[in-house]
Amino acid sequence: FTILGIETSCDDTAAAIVRSNGEILSHVVSSQADLLAKYGGVAPKMAEEAHSQVINQVVQEALDKACMTEKDLTAVAVTIGPGLSLCLRVGVQKARQIAGSFNLPIMGIHHMEAHALVARLTEKDLQFPFIALLISGGHNLLILARDLGQYVQLGTTIDDAIGEAYDKTAKWLGLDMRRSGGPAIEELAKEGNAKSVNFSVPMKQHKDCNFSYAGLKTQVRLAIESKKIDAKIPISSACIEDRLARADIAAAFQRIAVLHLEERCERAIQWALKMEPSIRHLVISGGVASNQYVRSRLDMVVKKNGLQLVCPPPRLCTDNGVMVAWTGIEHFRMGRYDPPPPAEEPEDFVYDLRPRWPLGEEYAEGRSEAR
Ligand code: ATP
Ligand code: FE
Repeated sequence: FTILGIETSCDDTAAAIVRSNGEILSHVVSSQADLLAKYGGVAPKMAEEAHSQVINQVVQEALDKACMTEKDLTAVAVTIGPGLSLCLRVGVQKARQIAGSFNLPIMGIHHMEAHALVARLTEKDLQFPFIALLISGGHNLLILARDLGQYVQLGTTIDDAIGEAYDKTAKWLGLDMRRSGGPAIEELAKEGNAKSVNFSVPMKQHKDCNFSYAGLKTQVRLAIESKKIDAKIPISSACIEDRLARADIAAAFQRIAVLHLEERCERAIQWALKMEPSIRHLVISGGVASNQYVRSRLDMVVKKNGLQLVCPPPRLCTDNGVMVAWTGIEHFRMGRYDPPPPAEEPEDFVYDLRPRWPLGEEYAEGRSEAR
């Protein structure tokens, strides 16, 4: 069978068509990077408008590239949370409209579950149970995936996510924000000396699997101020000393930000193996997982602990429609879907949107060990 996946939870409008055997027939992403660069962040109303402008085109392109029409689809999957309601709504409306007109079953998908499960599309050997570290602009999650739909949250961030810290650091260092901050920091860090600036690893004293990036952000901001780096001077016009000073901060930030991930993953592996001794894999996904330094550092930690690292290719780590379609496939196989909506929806219909939607139960032992 064949499923269309639609994703509009944040700042990318994405659609993809995937077959149940894992074949990706099309994969279309329209990014709002230009808007982001101009205004320095996502404003919900503006993001909604941008989604509305391109959604029809993005879905049509996904169908065209797959050489299909809606009639060839088996079902539609769409992200219903977590994310910005105004944005989610654009995708859900489009998905229901297609499902209604062509009498197709529909599935509401959890964005973070999709980030995790897409690894099962790219790594056929990946069986439940496994551990997943999901790192992106808005989330920093460590979960134990026991089975489809059965997740235990081992850790989450108590303030910011790592992607947010990358983006802010990039902005304060005057990096090119037409792309997101992450790749810009990754590049610049290669020129810097990571040990030349001392940042401390967050939450050392908390023996749990939670994360915190707000404090590291502040440390970075103070370092930038003390080195008199002016973000208004773009890095492309900075003199060589200035450029190197920025590169050092980028490298030091990245080293500590990732060390924090390494420490938490190591503990999460211990916790998870106690519950599920048959675990063989740790998955990393979400936008930050496309970072090569992150991948290589975590690969060492995971191997050292006797597991294997699985990371989807970068284009499937950042927000995309393939992960939504694939998660739809996993649910559809298990008979978990909603019947087709009516062809004409009443105007006052209330969509099931879940802007805040935890993924699974919290790990109770984690709370007690943390004390
Ligand atoms: P969420 O999944 O929490 O809703 P999101 O929708 O912002 O987050 P993603 O596409 O999953 O989107 O992740 C985007 C984040 O990933 C941004 O913060 C970006 O800076 C970061 N990112 C992308 N590429 C890299 C990279 N190479 N290195 C570090 N960070 C990166
Ligand atoms: Fe995401």
